[in-house]
Amino acid sequence: MKYSFCPKCGNRLGVQLIDQHERLTCSDCGFVFYQNSKPCAGVLVVDQNKLLLIRRAIEPFKGYWDIPGGFLEPGEHPEIGAVREILEETGLQVQLGELLGIFMDVYETTGDPTLNIFYTATVAGGEARAGSDAAHLHWFDLDALPHQIAFKSAHKVLALLRNGHKQT
Ligand SMILES: [Zn+2]
Repeated sequence: MKYSFCPKCGNRLGVQLIDQHERLTCSDCGFVFYQNSKPCAGVLVVDQNKLLLIRRAIEPFKGYWDIPGGFLEPGEHPEIGAVREILEETGLQVQLGELLGIFMDVYETTGDPTLNIFYTATVAGGEARAGSDAAHLHWFDLDALPHQIAFKSAHKVLALLRNGHKQT
């Protein structure tokens, strides 16, 4: 995300080289806008040999299949955020399994770099229904996943899941 004005005093931000990174700074109040990758939690809900995916109802990647999940709230532990997002997007209560991996990506609508934390999970309750960001839910056979998958990080973690799956 590109910012023009200081969130502290409202003056125009400039760019300064600090710690070998170009950072937005305010010459008026001294504010330095340290930015980070945005943390997201994604959940691979698995039942037998099936994986739950959602069809995205919004951009980016509208119409593509996606791993349910989303951005964490400030201060929110990724395990809490993962369970919350799954309930919001799918109506399902899940029991988290293992931390499968962490992958860097970019949220194309804003250009923000993202840090994506993926868990496995099983269904613990609730009733599957599509939430606001998800047009459809579908259980895919792990050996027959759709080709149109949103986000590079999702491709990577699905490859990891399938390889791990084949080894067991
Ligand atoms: Zn300022």
